[in-house]
Amino acid sequence: MHPRDLSDHVAYEAGRGIEEVARELGLDPDDLVKLSSNENALGPAPKAVEAIEAYAPSVHTYPKSSAADLRERLADRHGVTPAQVWLANGGDGALDYLSRALLEPGDSVLVPDPGFAYYAMSARYHHGSVNEYPIRRADDFEQSAETVLDHYDGERIVYLTSPHNPTGSEIDRADVETIAEGTAEETLSLVDEAYVEFSESPSMTDLLADREDVAVLRTFSKAYGLAGLRLGYAVVPEAWADAYARINTPFAASEVACRAGLAALEDEEFLEQTLETAAWAKEYIRDTIACPTWASSGNFVLCDVGDGTAVAEAAQREGIIVRDTTSFGLPGCVRITCGTRQGTKRAVAVLNDLL
Ligand SMILES: *Cc1c(COP(=O)(O)O)cnc(C)c1O
Repeated sequence: MHPRDLSDHVAYEAGRGIEEVARELGLDPDDLVKLSSNENALGPAPKAVEAIEAYAPSVHTYPKSSAADLRERLADRHGVTPAQVWLANGGDGALDYLSRALLEPGDSVLVPDPGFAYYAMSARYHHGSVNEYPIRRADDFEQSAETVLDHYDGERIVYLTSPHNPTGSEIDRADVETIAEGTAEETLSLVDEAYVEFSESPSMTDLLADREDVAVLRTFSKAYGLAGLRLGYAVVPEAWADAYARINTPFAASEVACRAGLAALEDEEFLEQTLETAAWAKEYIRDTIACPTWASSGNFVLCDVGDGTAVAEAAQREGIIVRDTTSFGLPGCVRITCGTRQGTKRAVAVLNDLL
């Protein structure tokens, strides 16, 4: 027997893990600086770690009420009802729930190029097809309603990323509204805010007060340092929020993840340190690296190194792991995640030697 025709599908290329790279290079994992996956260089929120440890002896039972508690807490923060918070196994899981809830076989979606690979993957898993709109280097990766609407052709979901990975650019709230207005009533404009904590711009969840065709994606993987736990959510309009109950996997987010998420939301000191460190690192990278860079509203900087693959491979031999953006369609660049002060300085020193 065979699986269904998966020839259109591509495997997700995650940034490589420290252990994997260390083994391959024969280096000590402690000597490596991993700045390739936009993880939190300070580690996980300490309050989340406490919550995880405290709950460990109880994981033999099915999840209890913490998912409801977390949905309520997040609903308060975003000014929506708990039903509008679709918890999931990471932001990626929430993307899948939106695909499940919205896509009929043959529907299409509109994704940014360059952009986050999982939008297209999720749509294809759900029997959708994929069209693209450009975010152009010639415009310094500026995002505009005009470009999106120029490429729009009745797609069911339009993915917008703000701040955008891997370029760091943002889309204005007015442009999101223009896109929502300029697309069909049955088209969802999804604003992926995976990095919004690092930006000066506020979240766009308040757009849902007046609209049934905008949703927002959020994650605990980046600013809260919980990437390995897999916790994210979509905030969806009230009008169709009840679809969640009919499409979600039972226990969509684990009890451990929900308890850690609740604790992380309380850890204001950690969030503050995270934002301060990322702001420092962004400025340091942009001021010090010997190549052109773009302004970023995320926890990473896109750097024009000339040959992304060669530079990323050479840096890796020196123990510095950065993301070659060739798979994003930007072969001339690498993306450097904001590290600790020490890690960032070492990374820039190594890269400057190579440049
Ligand atoms: C990291 C990221 C996500 C979500 O990641 P999860 O770990 O699945 O929560 C979503 N969108 C973008 C653009 C990202 O970079």
